[in-house]
Amino acid sequence: MDRPLNETRSVCCYCGTGCGVIIQSAGDRIVGVRGDPDHPANFGKLCAKGNTLHLAAVRTGRATVPILRESRAVLPAPTSWDYALDVAAERFAAIIREHGPDAVAFYVSGQLLTEDYYVFNKLARALVGTNNIDSNSRLCMSSAVAAYKATLGSDAVPCCYEDIELADLLLIAGSNTAYAHPIVFRRIEAAKEKRPDLKIVVVDPRRTDTAAAADLHLALAPGADALLYSAMLHVLLWEGLTDPAFIAQHTEGFNALRSQLAELTPGAVAAACGVRAEDIVAAARMFGQAKAPLSFWCQGLNQSIHGTANGAALIHLHLATGKIGRPGMGPFSLTGQPNAMGGRETGTMANLLPGHRNLADPADRAELARLWNVPALPEKPGKTAIELFDALTNGDIKAIWIACTNPAQSLPDLAKVKTALTHAKFVVVQDAWGDTETAAFADLLLPAATWGEKDGTVTNSERRISRVRAAVPPPGAARADWRIARDFALRLDEKLGAGRTAQFAFDSPAEVYAEYVRTTVGRDLDIHELSHAVLDARGPTQWPTGAARLYTDHRFAFPDGKARFIPIDTQLTAETPDARHPFRLLTGRLRDQWHGMSRTGRIPRLYSHEPEPRIEIHPADLQRRGWIDGQLMRVKSRRGEIVLPIAASEEVRPGQAFVAMHWGRRSLSHDGVNALTIPVCDPVSKQPELKHAALRIEPAVLPWRMRVLRSPGLSAEAHEKVIEWRARLAPLLEGFDYAALTLDGRERPLVALRVAAAEPLAIERIEQIADALEMPEGVCLTYRDPAKRVIKRARIDDERLTGILLAGEDLAGNWLRAAMKEGVPIDALRRWLFAPRAEPPVASAAPRRVICNCLDVSEADIQREIAAGADLPALQERLKCGTSCGACVQEIKQLLGKR
Ligand code: SF4
Repeated sequence: MDRPLNETRSVCCYCGTGCGVIIQSAGDRIVGVRGDPDHPANFGKLCAKGNTLHLAAVRTGRATVPILRESRAVLPAPTSWDYALDVAAERFAAIIREHGPDAVAFYVSGQLLTEDYYVFNKLARALVGTNNIDSNSRLCMSSAVAAYKATLGSDAVPCCYEDIELADLLLIAGSNTAYAHPIVFRRIEAAKEKRPDLKIVVVDPRRTDTAAAADLHLALAPGADALLYSAMLHVLLWEGLTDPAFIAQHTEGFNALRSQLAELTPGAVAAACGVRAEDIVAAARMFGQAKAPLSFWCQGLNQSIHGTANGAALIHLHLATGKIGRPGMGPFSLTGQPNAMGGRETGTMANLLPGHRNLADPADRAELARLWNVPALPEKPGKTAIELFDALTNGDIKAIWIACTNPAQSLPDLAKVKTALTHAKFVVVQDAWGDTETAAFADLLLPAATWGEKDGTVTNSERRISRVRAAVPPPGAARADWRIARDFALRLDEKLGAGRTAQFAFDSPAEVYAEYVRTTVGRDLDIHELSHAVLDARGPTQWPTGAARLYTDHRFAFPDGKARFIPIDTQLTAETPDARHPFRLLTGRLRDQWHGMSRTGRIPRLYSHEPEPRIEIHPADLQRRGWIDGQLMRVKSRRGEIVLPIAASEEVRPGQAFVAMHWGRRSLSHDGVNALTIPVCDPVSKQPELKHAALRIEPAVLPWRMRVLRSPGLSAEAHEKVIEWRARLAPLLEGFDYAALTLDGRERPLVALRVAAAEPLAIERIEQIADALEMPEGVCLTYRDPAKRVIKRARIDDERLTGILLAGEDLAGNWLRAAMKEGVPIDALRRWLFAPRAEPPVASAAPRRVICNCLDVSEADIQREIAAGADLPALQERLKCGTSCGACVQEIKQLLGKR
């Protein structure tokens, strides 16, 4: 008998939009998800990632038991929690005793809950006595924090999502909102549809789906952001579109900035910005003449060597025009992770303290020491993310605790990061997944609970605090993150004899939260009246309690109540192209993947929009250099080299190259794009310039090809099975010249391996791969051509093709993949299985690129209807494409525009 379905309200664990979800579970299994119609961030809508959250609730890859490597000379082995935490406490205590508290560090994550953050923060500062605690949020929004603090006096987003419906101009800067914050973008689309007069200006080097929706797209040169917004301010001044009374009454520093602006005319900066002077003037006029301009920004501004100046230059536009603090207007930084805001609020970064306190402020340290009942807090600044890994390499830091993040995939200059992790004396990795790139470096791997298994709170981009609730228990021995941190703290306290047991006497996340909110009393984010119970009763709540907007009285958070204009750094990027590295690398996101793919990478259908890694360059560059679409290329920067297929894209300009940030070692035989990126940081925010680098691209001569596809066909366990096969294959790819390991399909999911090499692979390695996929010769049809060194093998189950291996010649790989996904009967394929044939023998085996992932509608289906005269409503009526999450609507509009 089917178990009854339980429903639990929680929050999506991907982006900072913070959509409410309702998790459906049966017994201890998560079986479905739907949008929460009552959550004010999304009103029931979810994007493709949110809609498939439940599909990542798989067993394979989960860390379910502590794994300890007693020494680097022995293999890791399962152990008990008691022993694991004792060893961790002993190792940390020994290092602290011998080398002092700053010889250890904690590197945490914007995916932790507020309660998790708080316990880790207290553990580092109040027990260990170090400020070496930083978050992976350093990589995505620390420049926004620094810009808000430098200009408005506090790290507080002054706007809310409702402002989208009230604005008359949206300036979207360095943000592909359509991909990174899809539900925010749905609100933007809805607002534009309802009020066609709403103007949208997008500033982005690439013509993204977001840019395609703009009334004006400024495809600025990489790194020219601060220059562009300063030139816009120059125009506002010149044309009398500023608000001198507001500037005089509510701001400081304008005169100093004004002299810097004098030189920054549109004509003077147009070339450096890569846009026409008249477009800069047009954008400035649109901003200046708007009654309610709302600016969104994200990583395009933040991930820069002058990310703080970029954010500040954008905020200056609002301050100079007085367009801030009222409905529909203001500078709105979007957060990339679900609880990056919680990390800011709990001060879980090297330079911050809970309750928006500053580490550098003695009064803030003293007040927190009193609240925590410790004599004093450490004063020495902690190391930020990049500094922290440098300190592991040079030995200043000897032990690191990494929680819920994957620095061996996400930090820039990965060769350096891996050296750091190898140099460390003791590496603890606390994660839900045991197969991340970073887990491979763990001396101790601690299994953590994840989405659907955790209880606590998160804060989204608009300062809205939501309850996160557990629908099922974590698998095996996995535990909640706050509890792991607490249990470690209690043991470490014992080893150090610090007498701080009482400071960690939390029995539930609700108790942790109750203590955390007491640290906010009297602060700008005072939420002392909130608790888990109050949030349960009230639902998602903005801070300060119930305030939709900040600075409505135009009193800013500096002691004198005045906002600040600051000088602007107008340098472009850390690296500029030259003869050896002539391409400019741009990094960004795919529509249906999230971050390092540790979760979305386990969901086959999320690969259908972008099936494999690739590097995109402009068609003119491809043609000029005589390169062919799909050709494998060596992509080199001054730090590393990777191999990727090349693809033509009109989203980038000539001279630019785009690589998505998501692909890593679980998808490739080598590192992803962060093998190439540069670890140079903004001097204020310490955020690295992950967006840009200089590249050389040249053909990779890897003539030998192999394609392997394996699907369990239709079965309830099919999804779990392909993940298991993929996990078996991943370790076999080490040392390949090029290999891409991906998933695909829906009802009939499959695992796909593509290999290219300079020389044919040894037979033993081919057999290893076949064995891992349960395709030994005995159960498969086999074809061999020893003269051409070709081996082909097909597995057939229940009259369907369920496995194919094409080694030495793989022309038929694409249509065989389509045939397996579609479940084409074997009779239609049998005689063609081993033919060197690129064209499908039957129409049902033709490869199809899926555009609407929710409803599984392909580009070919859409093109057919467009050719028959369909417009968008007709397409939505006939094919249903774009009627679920809506993420594909922009792409459909672009197809319609080309007819
Ligand atoms: Fe999740 Fe998508 Fe909402 Fe972001 S926009 S929170 S990824 S459902």
